Formats: sequence, C-alpha cells, structure tokens
Amino acid sequence: MFSTAHDERNSSEFRLKKSLGQNFLKSQTVVQRIVDLIDDKSIECVEIGPGSGIMTQLLLNEGHRVHAFEIDRRLEEPLKERFKDEPDFHLYMGDYLKTTVPVELSQRALAVVSNLPYNNGTAIIKKVLRDFLAIRLCVFMLQKEVALRMMSDPGNKTYGSLSVFMQYHFNIESIFTIGPKHFNPSPKVDSTVIRLIPKKEKPLGENPEEFFEFVRQGFKMRRKKLRNNYDFDIMTYASKIGLENTVRAEEISLEQWIRLFQEVKRDG
Ligand code: SAM
Repeated sequence: MFSTAHDERNSSEFRLKKSLGQNFLKSQTVVQRIVDLIDDKSIECVEIGPGSGIMTQLLLNEGHRVHAFEIDRRLEEPLKERFKDEPDFHLYMGDYLKTTVPVELSQRALAVVSNLPYNNGTAIIKKVLRDFLAIRLCVFMLQKEVALRMMSDPGNKTYGSLSVFMQYHFNIESIFTIGPKHFNPSPKVDSTVIRLIPKKEKPLGENPEEFFEFVRQGFKMRRKKLRNNYDFDIMTYASKIGLENTVRAEEISLEQWIRLFQEVKRDG
C-alpha cells in the first residue's frame, strides 16, 4: 500500500513524504519491543505520528487507550477505517506542533510514545513537555546520533545544550538500536529507542526557559572558553562554584549549570 515519493509505478498508491519524516516501521517484532516498554498496561498513551497505525494497533491490543496526533490528512480516513471498532482510539488531525491539547488530556497520567519524524523530533519532545503535565514515561524512537547527544556526559564531543535540556527533565535509558532495513523507505541512519522517566526533582521548576537559554548561550561557540560566550563577566559567578577560569561549556555538568545559573540569578 505504501510507496516512496520516488516510486512512480502506481499513482493510486500512498506516497510517503520525506518532508514529514515518513519512514514507517515494517517489523511487527520491533514495534512489539517498543510497546512492551510500557509496563503499566492500564496507562493511557499519546502517540505522535501514528502513520498507518502499526504501533497504534499494538498499543490498542495491549489494552491502552490511545490519543494519536497525525499531521498528514491523507492518513485520516485509513486510520479511522482501521480503528472504527476501537472505542479507545482517539485521533487528532493536524500539525502537532501547532495543536492545542485539550486541557483535561494534558492533566492525565500518560505514556507518550512515538517513532518520531527525523526532521522535527526534538521540537516535538519539547512541546510534549509543555503540553502534558503528568507524564509517567516516554518511549521514543529517533536518530541514533540524536539519542547519543541527549544522553551524552560532560567532556564528550556530543555533550551540548540538548544533553543538559533532556537530562534536566528525564532519566534516559537507551534500549536498542536498529538499522535502516526495518523502515519503509530506509533512512540513511540507524535509529535508537530510548525510554525517558521524568525526574521528580527539578530544582528550577517545570520549564525553566530562561535557564535553557542561558545554557544555549554558553555553548554558542563551543570551542571558545565559557568566559567568551557571555556579554557579562560570567567568571565572577563561575569562580564562586569552583569552576576554573579556562573552563568550556562542554566540561560543565548539569548540576554545575544549575548552580551557575542560580548564582547569576541571585545577583539579579
Ligand atoms: N508510527 C508510524 C510508524 O512507526 O511506522 C509512523 C512513524 S513516521 C517516522 C512519523 C509520523 O509522524 C508520520 O506519520 C508523519 O506523517 C507524522 N508527523 C510528522 N510531523 C508531524 C507533526 N508535526 N505532527 C503530527 N504528526 C507528524
């Protein structure tokens, strides 16, 4: 039924769109492994980008209620048809990044699951965090390189503001990695499934945008020393928490970033 945009053989076939990150999973076994990571079978699920519904189907089979957000209008009828006898299936059509989530859904205890579109996976995760206030866990499949950046430690080349952002919010576990052959069409890169458990202690509150902007500024030119990335004397504060004058952003741990930010704020 599904073909790539370059496959012109059958014009009635559904053409998968690269611009929407439509690399659909082919393997039921892989999808089952993802779904099995949600151990609480009574928890409601939000799925971003159900596509043809391969994961949705297995979530429903496990007994989850599913709230699915899909951008591609061409998928509306096939999804409605496929799940017409499933009272636990709820479809929200439109660009999730522009969708206002119903208030009562935003407050429920949920699992968020997605084989994320490659092009805007990080933006989707950031919005998920703003939209859903009682997330119990997230299971995401995403580009291996992006997963590595999210989990990276200080001193590592891949450690950056995304690592600080993600590790502020979650305990992150890498579960498994698969190659391109499991998707239609095959992407050029490997994909990793990660499980995220929200941290209970968030010292700067739920969504400290100012803190994340402060960290991004510190990484602006990562080769440069921290002191060269701010337009004020950051080292006055950095020295208070024991950071060397020559320190670079990539050497600073999440805990140190938090303390540094608190020092700067304390001073107004
Ligand atoms: N869940 C399916 C699977 O695993 O085979 C499809 C995954 S595919 C990688 C990404 C899906 O997200 C596609 O169905 C695509 O249309 C959808 N999508 C892309 N951008 C989106 C957005 N901004 N809002 C909602 N859905 C989006």
